[in-house]
Amino acid sequence: MGPSLPSGDTDARPHEPVRTCVGCRRKAPRSVLVRLALEGDRVVVDESATLPGRGAWLHPDADCLALASRRNSIGRALRSPGADATGVALPGA
Ligand SMILES: [Zn+2]
Repeated sequence: MGPSLPSGDTDARPHEPVRTCVGCRRKAPRSVLVRLALEGDRVVVDESATLPGRGAWLHPDADCLALASRRNSIGRALRSPGADATGVALPGA
């Protein structure tokens, strides 16, 4: 709306990091994804994105979680193929 704003794609803010969902493989700004991280050998939702180590990013969507579980892409993203992702509880689900 502002006269000095450049025109163009306004879908994503340019300075926001983009991550790839480990379920559907689509890219999205990290603010719309949830971070999954390891707590021991269990995969948990890292809602504050503060857990140490690698993170895997996922849409808070049961379909994406199912896809990610089927492909074991959460374990791969976390470099922990045996990680147990069965206890992941998506926010709002
Ligand atoms: Zn997804």
